[in-house]
Amino acid sequence: MTATIDPGRLLGNLDTLAGYTSTPGSGVTRLAWSEPWRAAVACLERWGAAAGAAVVMDAVGNVIAELPGADMAAPALVTGSHLDTVPSGGRLDGSYGVVAAWEVLAALQDAGMQLRHPVRAAAFVNEEGIVLPPFTGSRAVAGLIDDEELAALAPVLEQAGLPSMPASIQGWDRVAATVELHIEQGPVLDAESIPIGVVTAVTGQQRGTVVITGRTNHAGTTPMAMRRDALVPAAELVMEVEKLAGPGGCEVATVGRLVLDPGAPNVVPGRVEMSFDLRSVDDRLVLGALAKLRLAAADIARARGVEIAVVAQPATPAVVMDSFVRNTIEAAASAHGLSTRPIPSGAGHDCAIMSALGPVGMIFVPSMEGVSHHESEATPDDALVKGAALLLDTLVALDAADHG
Ligand SMILES: [Zn+2]
Repeated sequence: MTATIDPGRLLGNLDTLAGYTSTPGSGVTRLAWSEPWRAAVACLERWGAAAGAAVVMDAVGNVIAELPGADMAAPALVTGSHLDTVPSGGRLDGSYGVVAAWEVLAALQDAGMQLRHPVRAAAFVNEEGIVLPPFTGSRAVAGLIDDEELAALAPVLEQAGLPSMPASIQGWDRVAATVELHIEQGPVLDAESIPIGVVTAVTGQQRGTVVITGRTNHAGTTPMAMRRDALVPAAELVMEVEKLAGPGGCEVATVGRLVLDPGAPNVVPGRVEMSFDLRSVDDRLVLGALAKLRLAAADIARARGVEIAVVAQPATPAVVMDSFVRNTIEAAASAHGLSTRPIPSGAGHDCAIMSALGPVGMIFVPSMEGVSHHESEATPDDALVKGAALLLDTLVALDAADHG
């Protein structure tokens, strides 16, 4: 018997999870380790048990449901996403991948089908990083939590009523593959009417701050030629940042924050702090963009008679999805008659962290009008069902291919 997902159960379970929120009526707010998060955990424990899986919550709060594999020595096939949301977020971000992972277990159980590899569904904790720095759950299983972070976690977990922290966190063994199903959170698939995005890479990211220092002075009495206005060069630099994205440059480049000092209508601004955020699937292009930004800043500083300091944060490298997993997703989609398109992920995801433990792949379904991190986030039911069916078939195909 082939395993198939149950659309009614999938969509019903998504509705149920959406009910676990601290802001009913204005989106889903389920912060990691909060009251609604605890209620959602209990729900996953029930669903996992009903699917015949062994369900545990680990030391940091990841919920893991696993069906044993026929081969005791085979590493696990992993699927899942995150259970936490941003404040007043949508009902699908994270939840969709979690509900679909649990649905995969239920579908295998319904069909009486045992795969060769164990199948492990995971609901990772604190992906969004609202409570503590992001990706706590996936970093814990990947063995990427250090003692300092462990110390910061302890009081949060204690307050949430979790069992007391161990002295160290035991990461997982190597896994056969991890496949994460997620909404796109961008407009591309919806605009092109393509049901499935096969993620090429989670983009690398370079953030930082530019500090422009001029001289604060009276807006009425300081002649134009004698000013050292910090905002005008900042404006020029904002235009330069926009130019860093495009052919041969990075994928996207953003200035999201400008802080003016003193910020009064009748004062020439003497100091401006400006953020920048550069992303690409190719780390070299991000590095190149940062170098161009430094050059542009130096030119503008000379021309305008101000000081400009570019302070870059440590870069987050891009994570390229495994080509075998990508091909498997594409083949399974084509067997369903679903068209696909390769797509980079501009947002970070747990599966990028999971690449530390084995090959990773990621499936996107369309986000209507590209809206996410907002209560109006939506994907048609039919597209949600197709995505979950594709996830199941991909895992079954990976199992048969004996990958990893
Ligand atoms: Zn997410």
